[in-house]
This record gives sequence, C-alpha cells and structure tokens, in this order.
Amino acid sequence: MLAQVWVAWCKKKSICKTCNELILSGLPMVYVRIRDTNRPYPYTMRKHLHCWLADAIDWLEKNPYTRVNSPGRKRLQLSDEDRKIRLKLLRRRALLVFRQRVLAYNNPKLAADKIGKMQEKVDIIVKDICKVGGVPKSWK
Ligand SMILES: [Zn+2]
Repeated sequence: MLAQVWVAWCKKKSICKTCNELILSGLPMVYVRIRDTNRPYPYTMRKHLHCWLADAIDWLEKNPYTRVNSPGRKRLQLSDEDRKIRLKLLRRRALLVFRQRVLAYNNPKLAADKIGKMQEKVDIIVKDICKVGGVPKSWK
C-alpha cells in the first residue's frame, strides 16, 4: 500500500473522512491518496487538516518511538576507566604525531633526532593501547 499525502486549500465542499463533517471551501485540508494493490485504481480521501493531524498524533502514540541501532562503528566494550585511559593515549599520540609533522616541515635535518625520540614515545603508546581496546585501524 502506498499513500500520498498533500495539503491544499479546500476549493469545493467535501466531506471529511474522519469526522464526517463538511469541509468548507477556503479551509486547509489534506488529501490522502492510497494506492492499494487490492484495488484496481487509487482512491482519494479528504480530511480536515486538524482531523488528519489528530489521526497522526494518535498513530504516533499507539506506535511509540523505538531507537533503531544506528549503523556504523560499534562502540568498544570498555570500562569507564579503560575508556579514559584510551582517550588519553589517543590524544597523546595525536599531539606527538602533530609535533613530528611540524618539526619535519620546518627543519627536517635538525629535527631528525627529536622526531626519532618522539617516535619512541609513540611506539610505547602503541604498546599501551593494545591493553585498552587495541590499536585503531588508522594507526596502521
Ligand atoms: Zn474532520
């Protein structure tokens, strides 16, 4: 079943499908057009805008919101404490890598020593993060 819904100003009087009262011209109304595979042709019904809204709110209340598991990366199963440690390691490495890049950009020859020492620190972080959730894919 396929339903098309649109709003318009009522141009000629018709009967509201919900309350069975007249929809007067000039009032806001809702067209609902339903294409049902069991019917040979689509049929249209007209409703007061407020009647349709009431129906809609009714339906939503009967079918409450349930959260759909969002696609994408799954959250790591970690304790709060491990999560904090992991975050710290991620940040520390990000800072080191950033500084390495800046040094390499400004003066690669003079900075080689410093960059090497920083790389040792980064390697230690890689070892440490294995204990709290593993090495992120982007690090490899
Ligand atoms: Zn109505």
